[in-house]
Amino acid sequence: MTRPIPYTLLQTWKQECRTLIQSPSPSSLFLHNLPKLELHIHIEGTLSPTLRHRLAARNHLLPLTSNSPLHPQKEIHTLLQLHSLYDNLLSPISTKGPGPSAFFEAYYGSMEVLVHEEDFYDLAIEYFRHAAKMNIRYCEPMFDAQAHTRRGVEMETFMKVFAREDRC
Ligand SMILES: [Zn+2]
Repeated sequence: MTRPIPYTLLQTWKQECRTLIQSPSPSSLFLHNLPKLELHIHIEGTLSPTLRHRLAARNHLLPLTSNSPLHPQKEIHTLLQLHSLYDNLLSPISTKGPGPSAFFEAYYGSMEVLVHEEDFYDLAIEYFRHAAKMNIRYCEPMFDAQAHTRRGVEMETFMKVFAREDRC
């Protein structure tokens, strides 16, 4: 029987991979150019702090309110403040680790800025541009329909976009 890899070790490996990819070396170029596939990507989880802040401004949702257990009810006005919420996404602070998770704040907390069709379009395009840069040749993106409908966003709003992106 195989034992699960400890969460903290996985996070360390992830950080080492990021550092390697970002370094100017033959290895990083090789990794960057390697054709990749992404078999399980929740598209809402790809929403960057930058796009989250831009959509919040466009939808008149600033200041945002953090639901992070690490920063409860903190008002977020600036992109810099929002970035600070994401700082510990790679730290061992998680539901699987010793404390609360910043990941779930980033995942569920960010959805409030996805309101209109163009917001979902911008989310999809941001992901596909990133995927192209990483030489991802095949991906299976999925989305969390109920997380949007329970917020009052009509199914048609995001289905129109995701059906369109499926043909890109
Ligand atoms: Zn999943």
